[in-house]
Amino acid sequence: MNHEQSRALYDRALSVMPGGVNSSVRAVRPYPFFVQKGDGGHVIDADGNRYIDYVMGYGPLLLGHDMPESVQSAVQRHAAEGPMYGAPTEVEVELAEFVARHVPGVEMTRFVNSGTEATVSAVRLARGYTGRDKIVVMQSGYHGAQESTLVEGEGDHTAPSSPGIPESFAEHTLTIPFNDREAARELFAEHGDDIAAVLTEPILGNYGIVHPVEGFHETLRELCDDHGSLLIFDEVITGFRVGGLQCAQGKFDIDPDITTFGKIVGGGFPVAAVGGKSEIIEQFTPAGDVFQSGTYSGHPVGMAAGLETLRYVAENDVYSRVNGLAEDLRSGLQDILEDRAPEYTVVGTDSMFKVVFTRDAPDSFEGHCEAGCTQREECSRYDHCPKNGHDVTQAETERWERLFWPAMKEQGVFLTANQFESQFVC
Ligand code: PMP
Repeated sequence: MNHEQSRALYDRALSVMPGGVNSSVRAVRPYPFFVQKGDGGHVIDADGNRYIDYVMGYGPLLLGHDMPESVQSAVQRHAAEGPMYGAPTEVEVELAEFVARHVPGVEMTRFVNSGTEATVSAVRLARGYTGRDKIVVMQSGYHGAQESTLVEGEGDHTAPSSPGIPESFAEHTLTIPFNDREAARELFAEHGDDIAAVLTEPILGNYGIVHPVEGFHETLRELCDDHGSLLIFDEVITGFRVGGLQCAQGKFDIDPDITTFGKIVGGGFPVAAVGGKSEIIEQFTPAGDVFQSGTYSGHPVGMAAGLETLRYVAENDVYSRVNGLAEDLRSGLQDILEDRAPEYTVVGTDSMFKVVFTRDAPDSFEGHCEAGCTQREECSRYDHCPKNGHDVTQAETERWERLFWPAMKEQGVFLTANQFESQFVC
């Protein structure tokens, strides 16, 4: 493949943008391809190379790159009528109504502009609502570029994971391994009265895909109820992807107090949201006292894209089609692995997938995975699913970057450049 144009663009970019990109994961070695345009399930780069796209914008593009006619015309109309006003519009109400109608844990929604902003606002809301400072996150969980969740360490021994974040932020953030019920109980036994919220993805989507074991979310729900803490589901990835329009909380039958959304809710535009019970969401200003505001929040073009995308999804058989394609892909990959590399594992559910390169399966790989994946009864392959972030880092993560990803790219398959982010089927 010829990459001359991408190379030249990257050289220019390196002079004017840090690392040549505007989001760190895009800076792949030796240089990223620069995209010229999308085409259905493909992207075409600046040199005219075509790739089948399993990145899908890191999740927002459930329908691929071709917007349905209804989405396209709504976006164009709202852009043409004047892109934004700083005053409310009908389309915001309609999207909030749609979300409340379909997502079990949501009665009210505050729209924001990125997943990061959603989780920042959700954490502030939980702290304001409970009058407590501490939050619990999962080790290896990702909730965006925010001070309170960029932490490393275990339990109450945590430190910021990036320079530029005061130590005092990490003092208020506690961690447990995903799926570790005992660690959750111990942490609550010691700190329960100070914990404002537990913040977790229902499925870890930024760590090679880790499914919840049966009972994990129920334990978190119980602990939060017993201690007056809130349960926040970060559904930035899983929202409107896993579990259909009910999202992962519907699939796993868990009732979170607060849900964060991003990606699909904006149909490919910068839209995200904090939703939940009215009693809690109404603590946001101006209804309540917890400050939250944004110039672009509820931007009509993004709202229209999100609303028309979700309407299209509701009116067409999108999930069975997309999830069916992903299941074909997962089982095809698994058949190849069973034949040639049985120690590797295919993970994923609905329209998410990933291959995890586990050679020496760590202890926690043993035992039956009780993940909420659809195939678990008839399928033994999930026995070796990673159960937490540590399991994924124990895998041969560098194999992805060293061999798999560059080789796939040269064959015209666009995957995320590292082992951790999920792949998506459109
Ligand atoms: N939460 C989760 C679960 C995410 O996966 C992401 C981003 N991939 C974020 C929050 C942050 O979203 P954004 O990049 O839009 O700020």
